[in-house]
Amino acid sequence: MKYLLVLLVIVVAANIWRHKRGARMGADAQASTRPGRSIAPPQDMVACAACGLHLPRADALSSSTARGRYFCCAEHRDASGER
Ligand SMILES: [Zn+2]
Repeated sequence: MKYLLVLLVIVVAANIWRHKRGARMGADAQASTRPGRSIAPPQDMVACAACGLHLPRADALSSSTARGRYFCCAEHRDASGER
């Protein structure tokens, strides 16, 4: 009878432990699939034609005379003789 009681305690403890672990793993899975945590898509990077600095295409200044050339700032665009 004493061994039966010990076995019962072990079974109950194992059930509690397994239940807690399952709940924690469920919370982790929920956190990883939470919306609004997605990574921003990659941006095209361009190099400044004057100094070679790489910057996102959206932030770069492009010249109207030479297409495909980008500059990091107005000073570098003006210094290269393009507008
Ligand atoms: Zn530059």
